[in-house]
Amino acid sequence: MLNFMKQNTKLISKKDTTKTLGNFLLLMTLLVSLNVSAQNDDFELELLHVQGNVYLVAGGGGNTALLVGEQGVLVVDTKLKAASDELIALIEENFDVPIHWIVNTHGHLDHIGGNAEVAAAGNILGSSNSGGRAVTDPAEIYAHIEVMIPLVTADEVDLDAVPGNTYTAGSMEFYANGESVQLIHQPAAHTRGDSLVFFRQSNVLVAGDIFTIQRYPFIDVANGGSVRGLIDALNNMLTIIIPNTNQQGGTYVIPGHGRITDEYEVVNYRDMLTIIYERIEDAIARGLSLEEVKTARLSREYDPLYGSDTGFWTSEQFIETIYAELSQ
Ligand SMILES: [Zn+2]
Ligand SMILES: [Zn+2]
Repeated sequence: MLNFMKQNTKLISKKDTTKTLGNFLLLMTLLVSLNVSAQNDDFELELLHVQGNVYLVAGGGGNTALLVGEQGVLVVDTKLKAASDELIALIEENFDVPIHWIVNTHGHLDHIGGNAEVAAAGNILGSSNSGGRAVTDPAEIYAHIEVMIPLVTADEVDLDAVPGNTYTAGSMEFYANGESVQLIHQPAAHTRGDSLVFFRQSNVLVAGDIFTIQRYPFIDVANGGSVRGLIDALNNMLTIIIPNTNQQGGTYVIPGHGRITDEYEVVNYRDMLTIIYERIEDAIARGLSLEEVKTARLSREYDPLYGSDTGFWTSEQFIETIYAELSQ
């Protein structure tokens, strides 16, 4: 296939996979218990070719995207810390080029947990000669500045995990493997520091947790998230995505959790969120209390697809969050 891919690599085709979102709840429960670094789980990571030079590594926390080329490997999101050894091993087993770049879609620990380990396993572009690992400057980490700030103001600062290349304005661009990499800030969406990551030549958009295909979006209000901002972010995704035919093909989308998809499901997801949001807005305008809104079950036809009665993010919490935001 590609000359930097090792011979023995076995790829699973997109069609063959029933995906791993089922682990989302479990992983987030682990996260919330703040017991992540103590876990020694055996994570089953799965490598899939997406399109062009982009691959998905599923499992072990949030989805990881890889851009692989002659210069090296770019890693979008580094999973839970406890899965970092397996992520590094998978990359080294399958690809002959070093890790040079890390990008974080946002600051949750199921997406940045392995930053320090993955950076240390790689090196900065230009410090290696012909792919060697002689020089040990770690790979560079890119993210919106709002990913960096909580890491450097935490009680325990792990400087090796902190993004050193941050941006504050609307977007950041750089080249990797001759391909343009664009980080596009989505303010106040899932968190205050979300970036969409777009690989223009490979035509793949990495959404982070703005888009979690089989669950209602988790709005991290405590960290600057908002429902309105998340709807805006989904609409921004749809301006980037160009389908091939009938809302399918063309730009592929990697969600924060769940399977690879395309415009069709992003449209469905955006419509779902917009409809529920507007129903609750209308109910509040008619004077309904939160309890009355819950009783009215305004998300009823979507609950079987996206809802949950248990876990860290239930359908009830989702409705409460929208109601609270619209009542401000
Ligand atoms: Zn996540
Ligand atoms: Zn998240």
